[in-house]
Amino acid sequence: MKTKFLIVFMGGVATTILYLSLLGAGGVVESPTGVAPDRYVYYPGTEALDKDEIRLIACGTGLPAARRDQAATCWLAELGNGDKFLFDVGTGSMTNVAALMIPYDFLDKVFLTHLHTDHWGDLATLWAGGWTAGRTKPLRVWGPTGQTPDMGTAYAIEHFLKAFNWDAKTRDFVLSSKPGEISVKEFDYKAVNAVVYQENGVTIRSIPAIHAGDGPVSFILEYAGLKVVIGGDTFPNKWYIEYATDADIAIHETFLTPSDLVKFYGQSPAQAIGVGTQIHTSPPAFGKVMSSIKPRHAIGYHFFNEQGTHDHILQGVRSTYSGPLSLAVDDMVWNITKDRIVERMIVSPDQAWGVNGPNKPPAPPAPGTVPDPISDFIKAGRWEPAEEAQASMVDKFKKDNNLK
Ligand SMILES: [Zn+2]
Ligand SMILES: [Zn+2]
Repeated sequence: MKTKFLIVFMGGVATTILYLSLLGAGGVVESPTGVAPDRYVYYPGTEALDKDEIRLIACGTGLPAARRDQAATCWLAELGNGDKFLFDVGTGSMTNVAALMIPYDFLDKVFLTHLHTDHWGDLATLWAGGWTAGRTKPLRVWGPTGQTPDMGTAYAIEHFLKAFNWDAKTRDFVLSSKPGEISVKEFDYKAVNAVVYQENGVTIRSIPAIHAGDGPVSFILEYAGLKVVIGGDTFPNKWYIEYATDADIAIHETFLTPSDLVKFYGQSPAQAIGVGTQIHTSPPAFGKVMSSIKPRHAIGYHFFNEQGTHDHILQGVRSTYSGPLSLAVDDMVWNITKDRIVERMIVSPDQAWGVNGPNKPPAPPAPGTVPDPISDFIKAGRWEPAEEAQASMVDKFKKDNNLK
């Protein structure tokens, strides 16, 4: 990260450093027509990563119920070696991912903590959207087993592809089918600190989580001597306490207080106390976890973060933890090195386009090799005046592009 940093967390102690603090927040604007100095923001695609640096982006921090302001869970880790990993791809999160305008070929590795829709509901968007917007290869998905085969990730992906059979078959006719494939690596949800991925100087381990049913896990990513723990959904558990200790970044859910689940989410008190304190982590419990494991920086998420809820969460967390903390919203970004952890917000376009990566798109299928999904009956319904209306545009485009 080449910009001057603004908020620095060092040695477990939060220190706010204003860059040349005498000059004000963003520096001095020298001229009404010149270039402005640094802002407190990250513009995606404008900063190279150092070799030993991790950029972590919150692409979804919300809940299963949709909200424009906060998509459901999704974390993107970008590493200085060029690797990128999506941890969960919850409902609605792909709009935030897409706004980063990263070529889809670089977004082919997805790690699922568990199979609630708020953690993988937008896999469909990554799968089909990436297929149409430049991904040249299959998606790779890692996820846990369940108590029975039908509760595991392999089953989920197999049936995901079956559910989207029509989508796939109609694309296969005009596009290479390769980017529509998904390879699954399922691993034992009970395995403790087991390596589930190891390539290129990156190790990702899994530990069990306690949430709603058997199967959920947390992930521990290690790269360049840095450790980032991605908590998923869980009640505080002994594995997280043991293996997330001394993390550089420890992400852990902190759920709405039972009172706010009743007030804002319309839950009954009986439901709220169960959801908010037994299958999820309450704010004071989150704080207790963090004061036990002492990460360089703690990130709490998985609640609708607004004025009316934020203070209640913060009060609960601060009753048990006084260290460095972010209560995440979508589009927060952290740059992590041995020396510093910098938190900023992302500024990205609402109207993003897919961008090509370096790989050439695979060839579409040769004519006659894939069944035509449109019958003669439907083709016979084409309205000819539409062809006449567009004929000159079509002719010119073909001529300009040497198409037959
Ligand atoms: Zn869940
Ligand atoms: Zn969840």
